[in-house]
Amino acid sequence: AKQQGRNRWVCFRQPMLERSKQLLFIDTELKQAIVRQELSLVYQPIYHSGTPTFTKMEALLRWHSRSLGVVGPDRFIPVAEESGYIVQLGHWVLEQTCQQLALWQQSSQDLLVMSVNVSALQLNQPGFADVIKQLLQQYQLQPAQLELEITERVLLDDSAEVSAVLQMLTALGVQISLDDFGTGYSSLSYLSRFPLQTLKIDRSFVQAMSDNDRSRDLVRAIVAMGQSLQLQLVAEGVETQEQAGALTLLGCQFLQGYYLARPQSADQISQQLRQLS
Ligand code: C2E
Ligand code: CA
Ligand code: CA
Ligand code: CA
Repeated sequence: AKQQGRNRWVCFRQPMLERSKQLLFIDTELKQAIVRQELSLVYQPIYHSGTPTFTKMEALLRWHSRSLGVVGPDRFIPVAEESGYIVQLGHWVLEQTCQQLALWQQSSQDLLVMSVNVSALQLNQPGFADVIKQLLQQYQLQPAQLELEITERVLLDDSAEVSAVLQMLTALGVQISLDDFGTGYSSLSYLSRFPLQTLKIDRSFVQAMSDNDRSRDLVRAIVAMGQSLQLQLVAEGVETQEQAGALTLLGCQFLQGYYLARPQSADQISQQLRQLS
């Protein structure tokens, strides 16, 4: 019985111990990732509905760790948020994306826009708006070329600080986009209280559209609400022609998803931009 009890204890405790060790290991390795050059960015085009062209892209972080292999952002971003390392990581992402955007803009007729994911902790760093202002100057970008994607979690705090930094960014001319709209702690009052230009309809809604009419009605209602608040709408996770068609009919201006384009390396995007121009 004693033996059995010990086994049970082992079975119960071991996975928890393993998990926290694993997170610690990810954290330690991640802090080396920048100097080891294990990080890269991929870019997913965001298309204007009903057209084969794009001027906007979302930057997505990739990590190929020498000891852990490929680790997805859904695994390492939460760890970096927990440890606070997301601030440095996020700065690296902003620096890289601004540099890349400046390069692409040199050979493009259209004004290109880069959408960058920003974590709550990063946005809440004192001086964040100044960091953005400096990057725009350094890379000679127009503020409207940068869009920062925040989640509802950022707005949940509803602090004077969050409000102030969003106002400063907006005053600079930077765009603010509300990511994963509808999945979080949605409070519709956010939409009027904070300066936002774009809503990204979460892919769970887009995917449910094919299954039932009620989901389609829900997306229709989100689009109508966005339009009346003069927000731009991006549908995420568009995987089929049917979804793309339906969203375009509903009046969603921008589409993003595997059906249109997967996230791609900078070289692949360069090629596409050349073909478009
Ligand atoms: P997100 O911001 O919601 O990004 C969209 C995710 O959906 C990306 O996953 C993208 O590859 C994926 N996706 C795009 N189109 C489709 C589709 O048609 N179907 C499906 N099933 N998925 C699609 P990814 O690259 O794995 O990123 C996951 C999350 O990690 C992001 O979700 C974002 O929250 C976070 N993340 C990624 N890069 C960064 C970053 O630089 N900074 C911060 N703070 N977070 C990041
Ligand atoms: Ca995003
Ligand atoms: Ca999203
Ligand atoms: Ca997401």
